[in-house]
Amino acid sequence: MAIIPMRTLLDHAAENDYGVAAFNVNNMEQIQSIMMAAVETESPVIVQASRGARSYSQDNYLRHLMLAAAELNPQIPMAMHQDHGNSPATCMSAVEMGFTSVMMDGSLEEDGKTPASWDYNVRVTQEVVKAAHARGVTVEAELGCLGGIEDGQGAGLSEEEAQEHLTDPEEAGRFVELTGCDALAVAIGTSHGAYKFKKKPTGQVLRMDVIREIHKRMPNCHMVMHGSSSVPEELVAIINEYGGKMPETYGVPVEDIQEGIRHGVRKINVDTDNRLAITGAIRKAFMDDPSEFDPRYYLKPARVAMAEVCKARMIAFGQAGRAPGVEMKTLDDLKKYYAM
Ligand SMILES: [Zn+2]
Repeated sequence: MAIIPMRTLLDHAAENDYGVAAFNVNNMEQIQSIMMAAVETESPVIVQASRGARSYSQDNYLRHLMLAAAELNPQIPMAMHQDHGNSPATCMSAVEMGFTSVMMDGSLEEDGKTPASWDYNVRVTQEVVKAAHARGVTVEAELGCLGGIEDGQGAGLSEEEAQEHLTDPEEAGRFVELTGCDALAVAIGTSHGAYKFKKKPTGQVLRMDVIREIHKRMPNCHMVMHGSSSVPEELVAIINEYGGKMPETYGVPVEDIQEGIRHGVRKINVDTDNRLAITGAIRKAFMDDPSEFDPRYYLKPARVAMAEVCKARMIAFGQAGRAPGVEMKTLDDLKKYYAM
């Protein structure tokens, strides 16, 4: 089995100057796409599940999909991560299920909507760090708020409002010190979902300078970019060519993510791009042969389309070729590390 603590992977990425894409999983085809791409590019992977994914797929199906992926691909180091835990209880239920990493998103209150106070965020994050580290499990926290809503999680801030909830570099330093979290998700003006920017983002709206400043203050802090799909024009075009109706929209350019990786970003969440690839492929398959009714007829090209996106990100972020170099540590190893 090659399910490893996420911290091990982030440390290796930091030592070797690369970033790791974290792809969301809701069903079998998605995890197959991720693993196809990982095997082909020899990449270590982070597979993550939101609360929405856990209820959609039911915890047990999801857990066994991830276990199957690890069993079939023992050469691929894989971290299992809870995306946007809304409370310590959610995080600990993921730990019970065998996740090797959890995100305690205390930037929002337990409803997953209301921006939370500093004190609340520190308190719930400390609580999760204490309980998770005792089990060797990695903790990601968040400071500042992103725009948009995804899977019911998010304050629903507009592109403009998100600019008022950026992560403050000075606060980030204090927060990491107070909580002992392993990784910090930062708000730099992006949003969850497909509608991040109305035009191609400039440095005024996509604040890469915040990342550079945090990295300068805390060179050892692993930063996480959320809302970091690139929303490629060609994927939106396929959807619209085959009957979809998506307005013009812009994501986070891959070059900006690469700039982030040069300044301490180690985990990059990518979900929307995979959704676009799947939807485009299914729409095309439906139009290509309207007489087909076997789900495998349209799920196969969907799986390939998502694998292509995963592969492209793995190569762009520098995780390709890194799988053989990652130590296959266990939660017990990390338990000892945290106890020191
Ligand atoms: Zn997120």
